[in-house]
Amino acid sequence: MLKIIAAVLLMTLLAVTIAWACPTSPDCPVHDQPMYFAGRTKVVNGHVFALYRCPLGDSYWVRCD
Ligand SMILES: [Zn+2]
Repeated sequence: MLKIIAAVLLMTLLAVTIAWACPTSPDCPVHDQPMYFAGRTKVVNGHVFALYRCPLGDSYWVRCD
């Protein structure tokens, strides 16, 4: 049980670290507004993507590497 908790904590830390490596505040391509990090990352075909949200409600996966 402790091992599972440690693994989850490690993955969370890793996700946060990756998020910090992303370009800061990309602009929304539709509304031209600075977006903010939504706290989610994913890996597709070996590339890291972070979810960014626009203040007007839409969201985009931004490639980080
Ligand atoms: Zn937008």
